[in-house]
Amino acid sequence: MKVFINPGHDIDYDSGAVSPRTGLRECEVAAHVGALTKHYLEAAGCTCELMQSDNLAPTSKGRSVYADRQGPTVTETANDWDADIFVSIHCNSAEADEACGTETFAYDLDGGDGEKLAKCIQNQIVGAIGMDDRGVKADPGLLVLKYTSMPAVLVELGFISNADDEELLTGCQDDFARAIARGVTDYEQMLMA
Ligand SMILES: [Zn+2]
Repeated sequence: MKVFINPGHDIDYDSGAVSPRTGLRECEVAAHVGALTKHYLEAAGCTCELMQSDNLAPTSKGRSVYADRQGPTVTETANDWDADIFVSIHCNSAEADEACGTETFAYDLDGGDGEKLAKCIQNQIVGAIGMDDRGVKADPGLLVLKYTSMPAVLVELGFISNADDEELLTGCQDDFARAIARGVTDYEQMLMA
């Protein structure tokens, strides 16, 4: 299975959420978890491509704001590579610091492969790390879900704005990566069953 991994945001151009306590940056957590996920998926026999960029789709602001960065976008690259599935990795953030837990988005909840993949990954993260289960949700407005031509999910590992979640996002990156990889292989086995 060809898995396209997209750590959210951009190390140079877009930090994503930032912890008010420690300065932990979402882009760094996503990059580390993404690289580890690639490692575990390759060990499980998958072929992986990894790309982190704020340049997500032809309509996204990255392309127009940074005139020197007119290269292929994340979603175009995934489509051209002919990925079987697409996994975007993010951290959540909220005004209310008690908000916590994991949620995974699919383009829609129609019982299709995107929703199935989202459920497999969500179940593994909640089960393995004990994150609060915020469930699988639909968001057709997310660019990486809207412009990809294969089953695609965006996983919000936990809240960088919540002290307990942040501790896990810092200390359990390997566990998050293993859980995502197991979610992908669960999905793969579901397809073959
Ligand atoms: Zn994000």
